[in-house]
Amino acid sequence: MAAGGGAAGGGLTGARERWVRTGGVELCVAELGDAAQPTVLLVHGYPDSKEVWTEVAERLAERWHVVLYDVRGHGRSTAPTPLRGGFTLEKLTDDFLAVADAVSPDRPVHLVGHDWGSVQSWEFVTVKRTEGRIASFTSMSGPSLDHFGHWIKQRVTRPTPRRVGQLLGQGAKSWYVYLLHTPVLPELAWRGPLGKRWPGLLERLEKVPAGDYPTASLPSDAAHGAWLYRDNVRARLGRPRADAFAHAPVQLITPTGDAFLSEHLYDDLERWAPQLVRRSLPAKHWVPRTRPDRLTAWINEFATAVEGGASARDALADGPYAERFGGQLVLVTGAASGIGRATAFAFAEAGARIVAVDRDAEGAARTAELARLIGAPEAWGEAVDVSDEQAMEKLAEKVARECGIVDVLVNNAGIGLSGSFFDTSAEDWKRVLDVNLWGVIHGCRIFGKQMADRGQGGHIVNTASAAAFQPSKALPAYSTSKAAVLMLSECLRAELAGQGIGVSAICPGLVNTNITATTTFTGVDDTEQKRLQKRTSRLYGLRNYPPEKVASAILRAVAQNRAVVPVTPEARGAHLMSRFTPRALRAIARMEPPL
Ligand code: NAD
Repeated sequence: MAAGGGAAGGGLTGARERWVRTGGVELCVAELGDAAQPTVLLVHGYPDSKEVWTEVAERLAERWHVVLYDVRGHGRSTAPTPLRGGFTLEKLTDDFLAVADAVSPDRPVHLVGHDWGSVQSWEFVTVKRTEGRIASFTSMSGPSLDHFGHWIKQRVTRPTPRRVGQLLGQGAKSWYVYLLHTPVLPELAWRGPLGKRWPGLLERLEKVPAGDYPTASLPSDAAHGAWLYRDNVRARLGRPRADAFAHAPVQLITPTGDAFLSEHLYDDLERWAPQLVRRSLPAKHWVPRTRPDRLTAWINEFATAVEGGASARDALADGPYAERFGGQLVLVTGAASGIGRATAFAFAEAGARIVAVDRDAEGAARTAELARLIGAPEAWGEAVDVSDEQAMEKLAEKVARECGIVDVLVNNAGIGLSGSFFDTSAEDWKRVLDVNLWGVIHGCRIFGKQMADRGQGGHIVNTASAAAFQPSKALPAYSTSKAAVLMLSECLRAELAGQGIGVSAICPGLVNTNITATTTFTGVDDTEQKRLQKRTSRLYGLRNYPPEKVASAILRAVAQNRAVVPVTPEARGAHLMSRFTPRALRAIARMEPPL
């Protein structure tokens, strides 16, 4: 092995470049940041070159010594001759060690791999000869072939309907792997029409922003890289190593919308990586290009925790949904009180970043402040009336500019209105529909559109009510607004399904919040209004169903992508009755309800 200095790398501003010679090839290595800092080593996938990491590398370089290299046969690194047998995991491990020795001879490196870069990094972190050379490993969109081999074996030898389903699911996602095993054709395709169309395909299907990526070396990267598959996949999946245990802490980042890899591939990973931290992200496959900010934050956090001697899990929030929502951006409306505030807190406990929106400025600010104390790495309070379209537009621009695109949107703000149809004025109708329905429409249109345009998925939660399916002679306006929210949620769910955006309608029954004290009762004077508000509040207090339970149901609904979620026994009962005994529900509708 030999190393030599050179000119700056293309695409990576300010990069220092050197060549590392190993096993008959020369590897093009780029370095950024202060070489005195610990090293973060980024390994690219297929069909890529090191430039896939540009966005992440430049951000990481503010704090770390960042190193990237073109895998043999890719980018500006030379290819082995002959190609066959030149890309085995053993040879790729030699390359890694040569680069690590050249750039960080005295200190272990923080390894980060995407796609095939992750597949090979799993090999690096699970073989004996690299022990002590790897401080931590962040893996995204690329499993260990050994773990994958055991995963398949377990499902073939001990099949259950669920396991067979998982096997078939992953089998369908791996269609391109079979194609890459055919001789010559992939090379011809990549050097011909596929190579030309690939940048457009990435932009259209994966929403990878256009720019200086992929680089001009794509056709030869892809043709050479086919040997990564041919040299390793069949051999390893057929005879996976039994001792492929990670000897460094591992951070697994799973994009929830990955077209090539099923989330179930990692079900048993704790067995192989005892010091494992899991994160998930609404994203497609090419996360280094589409979510560089989030990846940078997680790599920073994880490597910092490991450097500080902390256990890897210290980088994770404590809440039950920390793996699912940690680091994600969650916006909740009506967050100054009741269900909205409890929901903001539950997401904060999971380590999400919170935007608390309410027309009550002080309450929103207070929710944000408490959310930070509970565990949100960042939280903002914003005073906005959800029924004001322009104010919502402005809010969306500000959030996108300052915090990013929202991953989970909770349209929850709502007001109560009780009174018979003929006691409800046009003004009353307008007020309740403006907040309860138009507020949700604005949220879905404006923030949902940003989410759809980003193209990486996400989730929208709309707080409807059991009143959406339970008619009542005393709540015509409120129930109509909530029935509309329920139907809007169902329609939008159908429209956004193909884009990886889930939509859930939450339908609580009687929940002990402030809503009873602010509900307007029509057709009565002020004194009677106050008496009714008090009576209803007392009743809801006696029922005493806490908003925290609704918040838990909301997190569960997002994690499981549920369509309609009745919360409280009375809401579940009414939901069942609306389906199976609607007549009985109609009879109840004639009675005087609490709200
Ligand atoms: P709440 O009164 O405690 O909280 C509602 C919050 O929304 C308040 O902070 C309020 O300031 C805010 N808000 C009202 N209008 C707004 C506007 N135009 N713009 C911005 N913020 C606004 O009530 P809650 O019970 O937590 O209600 C939350 C949601 O749950 C509502 O949509 C409500 O209809 C629904 N819901 C409540 C119950 C219940 O029993 N409490 C049952 C079913 C559904």
